[in-house]
Amino acid sequence: DGVLYTEVRRPCRVMILVNPHSGRRQALQLFTGHVQGMLTEASIPYTLVITEHQNHARELVRKADLSQWDALVIMSGDGLLFEVINGLMDREDWQEAIQTPLGILPGGSGNALAASIHHYSQSPPAWNEELLLSCGFMLCKGLVSSLDLVSIHLASRQRLFSFLSLAWGFVADVDIESEKYRHVGAIRFLMGTLVRLASLRVYQGRLAFLPVKEAPRFPKGTIKTHHPPSTPQHPSLCSSLRCRLAPSTSPNLCNSTNSNHNTITNHTIPTKRPEAQSDGKIGAPLDSLLPGLDQPVPDSWTVVKEEDFVLVLAIYQSHLAEDLWTVPGAMADDGLIHLFYVTAGISRPALLRLFLAMEKGAHLACGCPHLVYEKVKALRLEPITPHGMITVDGEMVEYGPVQAQVHPGLARLICG
Ligand code: ADP
Ligand code: MG
Repeated sequence: DGVLYTEVRRPCRVMILVNPHSGRRQALQLFTGHVQGMLTEASIPYTLVITEHQNHARELVRKADLSQWDALVIMSGDGLLFEVINGLMDREDWQEAIQTPLGILPGGSGNALAASIHHYSQSPPAWNEELLLSCGFMLCKGLVSSLDLVSIHLASRQRLFSFLSLAWGFVADVDIESEKYRHVGAIRFLMGTLVRLASLRVYQGRLAFLPVKEAPRFPKGTIKTHHPPSTPQHPSLCSSLRCRLAPSTSPNLCNSTNSNHNTITNHTIPTKRPEAQSDGKIGAPLDSLLPGLDQPVPDSWTVVKEEDFVLVLAIYQSHLAEDLWTVPGAMADDGLIHLFYVTAGISRPALLRLFLAMEKGAHLACGCPHLVYEKVKALRLEPITPHGMITVDGEMVEYGPVQAQVHPGLARLICG
């Protein structure tokens, strides 16, 4: 009868992880000021977890009983989601764990994924609180799509999973050097770009990639076709959100909000560093396109002739930052790595023009002969310049040879 039914269609339980130090250190205030009311209105019970240190979220999701949670939502910049995804992939049950719907609420200074999902929803551009409200609304709607992840191998045999970007040279330098301006918010990237332009560098290295159009020499089935953007898969997050979308059909089932669900939890986890990732995670997905980093790339790959670069950027979302629309056609699940590189010889004004044009996604129309764009499935970068920075999802990683391959639709994302 009705009572039993109410229990079956329990409300959706969401863990919201907040990094109080991200962005202008206002993520918690932004949450209580703008999102909390929306969630209550939508009858979505949640547990707020305030991170206490770097890797806290990673440790937490690595050990969490995921049967307790219908979604993991990050209120921070992209760095905290990077922790959560890698925490999920660290688990022995990664295959199931990575199916947990992930959500993002922009609370950092680098909110690339939030800007991207807002863009995928075909809404006009939004920034700051307006972007937060849009993402909060998407969370309440609870539509879930596939999210590509990119597996990244570093020289120390460490393996990482990335949802946004792999950068070397100019972009990586700006990302890391501008962290000291985090308090100014998203504009830190423009400030960092101007500073870096003044001391423009050339980075030497070798770049190779597996282009998308090339027929790959691998067994059938290792490359999955992606869903065309016109037919997105959008199953709802859970029944309570479905009934939020159609309240008239089952009003009673939606009114099960209990304010006791909305607790603030300050988890304390021993401050030991997480164990170094072993080479290759237990059973984690096989990178069938990648030879060992010490092996030559297969013949089907393209080796870039130039070895002098200003930047190399592999990106798999539309936006690199709130006001950098880097990949006009990108989708969260297009199964592609969008590889950009800028070769040496570009003038400072021309490079600045590219970044300014990127606000409107117009950089590829600049006709800049130094800018190259390729759609790829895998890539390898071997820096020759002895010192430099490489970032993954905006976080600095070990400098050295690195290779990557895309895993179409490995994760799930609340968007749309
Ligand atoms: P921002 O966009 O401002 O850079 P991020 O979400 O990228 O925000 O977080 C920045 C860094 O802070 C990331 O490396 C993340 O792992 C780390 N971090 C997460 N929680 C905390 C915390 N409580 N204290 C300090 N650093 C944290
Ligand atoms: Mg960051």
